This record gives sequence, structure tokens and C-alpha cells, in this order.
Amino acid sequence: QAKQEGRNQYRLYTPKMNDKALQRLTMENELRKALEREEFLVYYQPKLDLCSGKVIGAEALVRWQHPRLGFLSPSEFIPLAEETGLIKPIGDFVLWAACKQNKDWQDKGLKGICISVNLSAVQFQQKNLLQKVTHCLTEVGLNPAYLELEITESSAIQNPQMTIKTLKEFKKLGIQLSIDDFGTGYSSLGLLNQLPLDTLKIDKSFIRDITSDKDSQAIVSAIIAMSHNLGIKLVAEGVETKDQMFYLKEHHCDQIQGYLISPPIAAEQFEKFLQPDYHIMTYTWTVG
Ligand code: C2E
Ligand code: MG
Ligand code: MG
Ligand code: MG
Repeated sequence: QAKQEGRNQYRLYTPKMNDKALQRLTMENELRKALEREEFLVYYQPKLDLCSGKVIGAEALVRWQHPRLGFLSPSEFIPLAEETGLIKPIGDFVLWAACKQNKDWQDKGLKGICISVNLSAVQFQQKNLLQKVTHCLTEVGLNPAYLELEITESSAIQNPQMTIKTLKEFKKLGIQLSIDDFGTGYSSLGLLNQLPLDTLKIDKSFIRDITSDKDSQAIVSAIIAMSHNLGIKLVAEGVETKDQMFYLKEHHCDQIQGYLISPPIAAEQFEKFLQPDYHIMTYTWTVG
């Protein structure tokens, strides 16, 4: 009887474990096939310049139109893609899609904007990354000044010497460079000073309570003062309210990105932000 129960318990437990392992394996297989099946797409989230009130760029963010599970956001598949190395071909796809899209917009006579592409640590450490990016820009015919690469602060500090060397090579090509999720990764001032950066993106965790929380305010003020002294532009991520936007404008943050302006959207939808007569500020902007 006891043996029987024990076995039943064991049986109850095992399928669950198998379920998890099976789910992972299934997901990995599907991830492998997703590229050739063209299930990935790139969304664009506008970046707004706080001086002019105009959209001056966008961040490319990948999505997966999964055949069974529907529309998946990066948090649901990027970690597995990083573990399996599949982030490399997926990342290549995003880079090419974003560059081609930007070239199309320019060829259509829409305003020239800079599009940023995220690089995971795994991608950033690829030996042939520089060749890959150069090849893409040449083939597409896009001016390197219209491409920005974002690496997270935590991947920048994994191997500081390598980061300095790689970023300097990218800078020579004329590509824009940005540190993402800044404030969460404990990089040193010494390192920042040696990196040829154009932009720092303040992590959204510091923006959430910016209008009320004294600690967030102190951190953001320190980051803004420091970057401006180093000649680096600041982008605030995760701006959701007008009050956050006004606070950031008052404190001389350069650009904002967040649901207040727009969530990440499909390329066709993004085009309206590039029309010369498009005034995003007619409904958000009240101070000059
Ligand atoms: P990230 O690069 O820091 O991108 C910003 C994330 O914040 C995006 O999430 C965006 O949708 C979200 N966001 C934008 N505005 C707001 C807002 O106002 N409030 C809040 N709460 N969130 C906002 P998403 O698209 O889910 O991407 C998550 C992360 O996945 C990205 O963080 C990036 O690290 C990674 N990722 C996305 N696309 C790619 C890619 O093509 N390659 C690589 N390597 N990583 C990617
Ligand atoms: Mg980013
Ligand atoms: Mg970020
Ligand atoms: Mg992030």
C-alpha cells in the first residue's frame, strides 16, 4: 500500500518535471525554426528630443509571432535564445531588418533618424561582430551615423578592456554608441570616461517614481550632471506620464522614450512620427 502510494506520488511529480523540460526543449526547437519560418518581427519605439519636441530616433525591439502561443515579447524568449546561442542569428536578423527599414524610410523621403539595435553580451562578444555590422551597413547602403548600438551596462563591465577596444572600433566606423539600463550595472566612472559613448539610457526603475522619490531624483540628477560633463547625451527610458516628462525636461535630460509617446509599434505605424507635419506635442506639450 505504502509502496503503491509512493509510486503514485512519484508519478504525480515526474510528469510535471518532464513537462518543464519538454516545454523548454519544444521552445528551443521552435526557436530554431522560427527564423526560416520568418516568425520574428521588429517593432519600433520612438525617442523624443525634449528640446525640439520631435521624434529623432527609435529603438528596434524584436517580437515573436509564435504559431501556438501568439505574440511573444522578448522576456519570453530572449533568455533561452541567449543560453542556446540562437540570439546570434536572431540578432543578425534584427540588425538587418532595422537597417533596411531605416534605408527604406530615407528613400521614401521621410526624415532621417537614428535607429538603435540592442546587443546582448553574447552578441557583443562575437569575434566577427565588427565585420558583420560593416557588411550589413555596406550592403544596405545606410550611413553608419543612422545606426546606434545599445549594450547594457552589465555586459559592458564583463570585460572592460574588450569593451573599450570594440567600442572604439565601432566609433571609427561612425556608428552611435549607447549604454542601456544605466544605473543598474555598477560601472565605474573610470570605465565610462574611456568609452566613446554618445548616449546613456537611464534605467526605467529610476524614472518610475522620479516625481516623488528623493532617492530616484538624486540618482538621476547625478547621472545627468556626470554625463553632460563627459559630453554624453541622456535618454530616460520608461516615461509614462507628463509629470515625469516635465520633471526630466526641467532637469535637462535630452531625450525620452516610453508609453507616454508610444509603445513599440510596427514600422507602418511608426511612419506617422516621421511626417514633417506630425506634431506629437499638440497633445502632450504645454511648456516651451
Ligand atoms: P530594453 O532594451 O531596455 O528596452 C526597453 C524595454 O522597455 C522594452 O521592452 C520596451 O517595450 C519597454 N518599455 C518602453 N517604454 C516603456 C514604459 O513606458 N514603461 C514600461 N514599463 N516599459 C517600457 P521589450 O520590448 O519587452 O524588451 C525587453 C528587453 O529585451 C529590452 O530591454 C532588451 O534588453 C531586450 N531586447 C529586445 N529586443 C532585442 C533584440 O533585438 N536583441 C537583443 N539582444 N535584446 C533585445
Ligand atoms: Mg535597449
Ligand atoms: Mg533599457
Ligand atoms: Mg531593459
